[in-house]
Amino acid sequence: MKIQPTFALIGAGIMSATLGVLIKKLMPEARITIFERLNRVAAESSDAWNNAGTGHSAFCELNYTPQRSNGSVDISKALKIASEFETSKQLWAYLVEEGDIVGQYPFINDIPHMSLVWGQDNVDFLCERHTAMIPHALFEDMQYTEDPDIIKSWIPLMMDGRQDKEPIAATRMEIGTDVNFGALTREMVAHLELLDGVDILLGHEVQDLRKDKGGYWEIEVRNLEEDLDVTLNVQYVFIGAGGGTLTLLDKADIPEARGYGGFPVSGQFLRCTNPSVILQHEAKVYGKASVGSPPMSVPHLDTRILDGERSLLFGPYAGFSTKFLKNGSYFDLPLSIEMHNVWPMLSAGMHNIALTKYLIKQVIQSPEDRFEYLKNYVPTAHAEDWELTTAGQRVQIIKKDSEEGGVLKFGTEVVCAADRSLSALLGASPGASTSVSIMLDVLMKMLPEYMTSDSWQKKLRRIIPTYSKSLISETELARQTRERTTKILKLE
Ligand SMILES: Cc1cc2nc3c(=O)[nH]c(=O)nc-3n(C[C@H](O)[C@H](O)[C@H](O)COP(=O)(O)OP(=O)(O)OC[C@H]3O[C@@H](n4cnc5c(N)ncnc54)[C@H](O)[C@@H]3O)c2cc1C
Repeated sequence: MKIQPTFALIGAGIMSATLGVLIKKLMPEARITIFERLNRVAAESSDAWNNAGTGHSAFCELNYTPQRSNGSVDISKALKIASEFETSKQLWAYLVEEGDIVGQYPFINDIPHMSLVWGQDNVDFLCERHTAMIPHALFEDMQYTEDPDIIKSWIPLMMDGRQDKEPIAATRMEIGTDVNFGALTREMVAHLELLDGVDILLGHEVQDLRKDKGGYWEIEVRNLEEDLDVTLNVQYVFIGAGGGTLTLLDKADIPEARGYGGFPVSGQFLRCTNPSVILQHEAKVYGKASVGSPPMSVPHLDTRILDGERSLLFGPYAGFSTKFLKNGSYFDLPLSIEMHNVWPMLSAGMHNIALTKYLIKQVIQSPEDRFEYLKNYVPTAHAEDWELTTAGQRVQIIKKDSEEGGVLKFGTEVVCAADRSLSALLGASPGASTSVSIMLDVLMKMLPEYMTSDSWQKKLRRIIPTYSKSLISETELARQTRERTTKILKLE
């Protein structure tokens, strides 16, 4: 009799949903249990209103293309993210083609992405960035202009009432997208629920996990509604608990997790409540972040299309809370401090004074300060048309470092146990947009023999035709892939 591999996926966000779908496509006999402490799938960072929904495709987010000291622009990170977003689109297109995800409204919509800068130094930077990017197929459609009239025809709301005579420049990618990651996650989980061997347990909080004598993971779970404790023994565990991952990783007590800590940063947006203003804007427009601010704080004015409805958001403004999850506890941060991470956390704090100052300034902002900042982007804005909303909680990674003691990292990182039986995802953006590549990495770390076998390689290429190929160096392949997914996902 064939042994059924058993998996526990902790958290029902985009990451666990993606991993669950990949596992069932590659290994239909696998048994999967997804545990989610809330009563709804994707109610933390993956919910549409808790993130910015950008296909973080690195087209126009300026934080992914830092300027070198000689003035040239490093686009390597943007290339990586853009190609990973194309990988995500391939899985989503496959699921659409197979009829596995069929929502009432599209979870992905066309919306041009733009960068907008002013001041000669910033204009020079954007021009240099454009020159570096357009030779690559992934960015070859990027338009650049310094002509205010052309910019006005693209984004009238941001140009009306602009008085300053400074030079201005913009880039534009027509094929940008807005993604409702919450809807996508719920559709993937609904599909999983229909499959044999999958249990989705909402309202179930994982409280502890340890290795049993047989080498399986014993997971202690509390059924929150019925106030009951349940245990489950499985071969493989993925901790996709978003901000809650660090706490659970600590409980798993694997040596590979020593030295990790977390620093929570919350996000707030101004949401436009005036339908006539919302209709005047149709783009996701990224500006330049202020000096000292963390990379994910690049200001953007975003058209969002969620469940068939259009809206307009500006932000993010950073906030500070000691919670690791939006629905978490104020004790999350203090309780995460242990002997193994106290020095990395203190060192990271000492090396990031600019960030600390930035956060303090953000937290003490008044509504008037926030509105003044918005007016840099929407000069004709009226305060009564905008309300403040709180987005999700990001827990940035703090990691032990031999030279500095501890470093603060802004990306994501997969931590895997030496025996490959457990992995966990720490960190935040770019997250949801690159979730498919991240979960393929998780599978490669946990199940390398399967992943490199002929049968899985064949399956993987059916699901993601460019699997193991480079969309960065293979120009024609990049064009064909984008054309194919654009058609299937009904983008223009
Ligand atoms: C303000 C903001 C803007 C962002 N913008 C973008 C963007 O534009 N593009 C992009 O790609 N990414 C963006 N991100 C990042 C993106 O939202 C995340 O990378 C992604 O949603 C993470 O998914 P996840 O499944 O790991 O976590 P989550 O969606 O947070 O899901 C984790 C789940 O685990 C559950 N959980 C926690 N602890 C337990 C436990 N003990 N037991 C059971 N369940 C548990 C939680 O309730 C939650 O439902 C943004 C994030 C924020 C906060």
